[in-house]
Amino acid sequence: MSQNYIEVALPVPMRQLFTYEVPESMQSPDLCLGERVLVPFAGRQLVGIVVNTADSCDIEESKLKPIISRVTDKYHLPADLLKFLQTLSQYYHHPIGDICQQALPVLLRQLEQPDLSFQTRWFAEEGCDLTGKISATAKKQQALFDTIAGPEGQTHGCSWPELRTLGFTKAQLNALDSKGLITEREIIPEPFTWQAKSLVESERLTLSAEQALVVAAVNQSKNQFSCHLVDGITGSGKTEVYLQAMEQVLEQNKQVLVIVPEIGLTPQTLSRFEQRFHVPIYLHHSGLNDKERLDTWRAAYRGHAAIVIGTRSAIFTPANDVGLIIVDEEHDASLKQQDSFRYHGRDAAILRARQLNIPIVLGSATPSLESLQNALSGKYHYHQLTTRAGNSVQAKLSLVDVSQQQMEHGISGTVKHAIAQTLARKEQVLVFLNRRGFAPAINCKECNWVADCNRCNKPFTYHQHDQLLVCHHCGNQKRIIKQCEQCGSVRLSPIGQGTEQLETHLSEWFSENSVVRIDRDSTRRKGELTKLLQAIANKEHDILIGTQMLAKGHHFPDVTLVVILDVDGALFSFDFRAAEQMAQLLVQVSGRAGRASKPGKVLIQTQYPQHPLLQDLVNNGYKHFAQQALVERRLAHLPPFGYQVLIRAEANYPSYPAKFLSSLSQFAFDEVELAGPMPAAMEKKAGKYRYHLIVQSESRPKLHTAMRQIIQLLQQHELTNKVRWTVDIDPADFSW
Ligand code: ADP
Ligand code: ZN
Ligand code: ZN
Repeated sequence: MSQNYIEVALPVPMRQLFTYEVPESMQSPDLCLGERVLVPFAGRQLVGIVVNTADSCDIEESKLKPIISRVTDKYHLPADLLKFLQTLSQYYHHPIGDICQQALPVLLRQLEQPDLSFQTRWFAEEGCDLTGKISATAKKQQALFDTIAGPEGQTHGCSWPELRTLGFTKAQLNALDSKGLITEREIIPEPFTWQAKSLVESERLTLSAEQALVVAAVNQSKNQFSCHLVDGITGSGKTEVYLQAMEQVLEQNKQVLVIVPEIGLTPQTLSRFEQRFHVPIYLHHSGLNDKERLDTWRAAYRGHAAIVIGTRSAIFTPANDVGLIIVDEEHDASLKQQDSFRYHGRDAAILRARQLNIPIVLGSATPSLESLQNALSGKYHYHQLTTRAGNSVQAKLSLVDVSQQQMEHGISGTVKHAIAQTLARKEQVLVFLNRRGFAPAINCKECNWVADCNRCNKPFTYHQHDQLLVCHHCGNQKRIIKQCEQCGSVRLSPIGQGTEQLETHLSEWFSENSVVRIDRDSTRRKGELTKLLQAIANKEHDILIGTQMLAKGHHFPDVTLVVILDVDGALFSFDFRAAEQMAQLLVQVSGRAGRASKPGKVLIQTQYPQHPLLQDLVNNGYKHFAQQALVERRLAHLPPFGYQVLIRAEANYPSYPAKFLSSLSQFAFDEVELAGPMPAAMEKKAGKYRYHLIVQSESRPKLHTAMRQIIQLLQQHELTNKVRWTVDIDPADFSW
């Protein structure tokens, strides 16, 4: 095949591919699809990805430019990955250039050749004598040594990113190093091979009948696509199922991709995987630097990484022989990317598994309605794990009616009393409030003026500790003000509660006890979250206050009371997903309690204890709630029974977005409805005016056809460059 011309995907905000000429001197060796090339573009040089090659082209010779050079490091996008990215580009109507860009590690997107030295890993010094080298009190050092050494002698060692993610520090590592107990070695990433020692048999648990059925079903469909939804309450043994389902795949020297929603989850998941398998495990998450990400990418590419655990973009890992994909907490909102390329990590994972013809396992205690519907309708294999392993029992949910109660700083007498009783038993309490800062607003007692962010027209959140007013929508901040800007009064006061304020009051009320707050503000420093979680595990704190950071994944065996302070907002939301998300959150938060043999209790404060959603959830559980919700969605033709696209438009000039979007209303699209344009829930954000248009249909193919037309029309509109507009397929969040 001749390769005189190539079509290249470029990292520019344009949808099309760009054609270049390949000088004859550069045509050997053969160009391959997915290869990186350096090309001239608008006076700059860019790294692009070859998407097509051709021997002729119908563009005028004089308009074509030759490529500058080919990148010879051989790290191109593998053909199957490129095909996957192209499918995503079609499905999400997003430019392939930007998708390729996001799929490549930063260091491979740059003009300069990256440092391609291999990663080093730490090993236990062979035959070293531990006696007297680690003092009995240096528990962390001992744990670090044990992790590196492994129970039967690690053959793959541990990388620094792994150890750091597990919560160890450089100082601990250096201490072991200076004692001559460990050694650092460069690893040539050769394809991994399964060995007898790769599985730590002693860690393996005997599966329950329900668990065994899942593992058998996944094993059975080894070399063909099948999707398995594992619907199991927290603690029912989903992770154990993942681990055992992976065994047969790894035994065949195939790789496993594990997608987890957030990095907060990874330490515990990671250590379970490390303890079970002595194979090269690699991480992919936002806590890694560019070089570390490149290391994971290359280790997967060369077949060295047996297991890659990471957040949603780990789905772009170029592993060359994937045998199984696992998506844990498949309902989690953070699996959806909310800017630029708005893909859903779970849906992308399913697409990839389908292309690779391999099984995929989705797990959750609170499956998304989409997945649940697919499972109930038989499209996915549906597996339920109905009992908790061991003797721990599911915490009981109760509603606390606060409509008639005197509240003190947002806390009812009932709840205060329950906290005191729990503390008296020397057990831990978790108080959940999904609002960080001291107070969600400050207002003037004289004239009712509220301090608003001028860029968003929404109240500033008051952060007492930093003496700042911060806009949680755009990040705008300013020093706390002492006087009302409308009437000059100094009678300004905070309204409502945030976690920071809760911490202040609970510390006052229960001054004998230690209170810890876990939210984005208190864990901003690197390693802080791990440290706080460790302190909680060591029972250094009695009351845990947190936002949704605390709701996910963590195990707090000594927490026996969970208090949920504020759920009412979600009951009356305009967003049809709000109730689903609230129910998931409630169940997830309550899953933190009573994991050990101590029974847990969950108190939910509400003004509306009779609300049918809450009643259903509390009395009949998530499953029943979800089935009811599905009935409502079906009646309303909402997802998963209808399909949606959200087009967002924003501009500096107030009338532009609506004018731009309403231009579509003069066209008709087959079996597709347009709703809007309407002002976004936040009509103004960061100084920009914002409108939404929803495109919906009961037929996915029709919706996609319409979207191709719509995008063309919008691209031709006179305002297309004055309005910033984006397309969100299967939108999950309408609030902004
Ligand atoms: P999930 O991922 O559903 O929250 P895990 O897999 O973490 O559940 O299991 C919860 C607890 O139960 C863990 O401590 C685990 O070791 C234990 N466990 C899981 N499966 C079994 C089993 N088959 N036999 C005994 N203990 C189990
Ligand atoms: Zn703002
Ligand atoms: Zn005032």
